[in-house]
Amino acid sequence: MFDSSPEATIPTLSIEERKHRVIDEVRTTALRVGRDPTQIKILAVSKQKTVTDIRAMVNQGFRDFGESYVAEALPKLDSLASEGCTWHYVGVVQSNKTKRLAQHFDWVHSVDRIYIGRRLADSREEFSTKPLNICVQVNIDKEPTKAGVSVDQVPELVDQLKQFPQLQIRGLMAIPNPDAHPDATRNSFRQMRELFEKLQSKTSVRWDTLSMGMSGDYVIAIEEGATMIRIGTALFGPRI
Ligand SMILES: *Cc1c(COP(=O)(O)O)cnc(C)c1O
Repeated sequence: MFDSSPEATIPTLSIEERKHRVIDEVRTTALRVGRDPTQIKILAVSKQKTVTDIRAMVNQGFRDFGESYVAEALPKLDSLASEGCTWHYVGVVQSNKTKRLAQHFDWVHSVDRIYIGRRLADSREEFSTKPLNICVQVNIDKEPTKAGVSVDQVPELVDQLKQFPQLQIRGLMAIPNPDAHPDATRNSFRQMRELFEKLQSKTSVRWDTLSMGMSGDYVIAIEEGATMIRIGTALFGPRI
């Protein structure tokens, strides 16, 4: 495991210190590569963290939160309903959970099959007049056990998903192999950006999100064009 920001996992830092470290790093990196720091959204990934932890992060100014497990997330979403948060699902989508995802979440980052898209769209219609924001998850490093569609299949899946007005396709998401060398990770992020730009130029509306980069590799992701980074450990501290 290579970690580009090992200090981020120091367990004794306060949430406020962590926030400043991450925000400073995002800003410095963006400016260094000629990007506008405000164009990079930080998604605070709160899986395994409590309502109290999340509320502390709300008090630090965060409103976008990511969760990976439906059963764990729903009580937390309920407790925090008055905070005006935007909830992103970043976990593996199981077909028996699509209804609850469509009902309770604002975004699903991990759509990788038309079947899942159809189920999300059908359920969304029951619960909301606002479309569900989705990203297509790409299995960029061709890992056999990882969710996501292969690079070759992305254009066709995107085309199929466009038939559902209940879904707003916002872009692409990827989780590179966590054990890869940083140069390989960079290469994967770069391929994602190329694919993103190719599809973006062919799509009319709101294709604006390239969701990539986590605590260990977000600096590289920003250098390579991420518009949304998903940060758990570096903000909340280690998960036990
Ligand atoms: C857990 C998780 C994250 C955050 O991981 P950290 O390394 O703690 O920042 C980001 N994206 C996904 C899909 C996750 O499951």
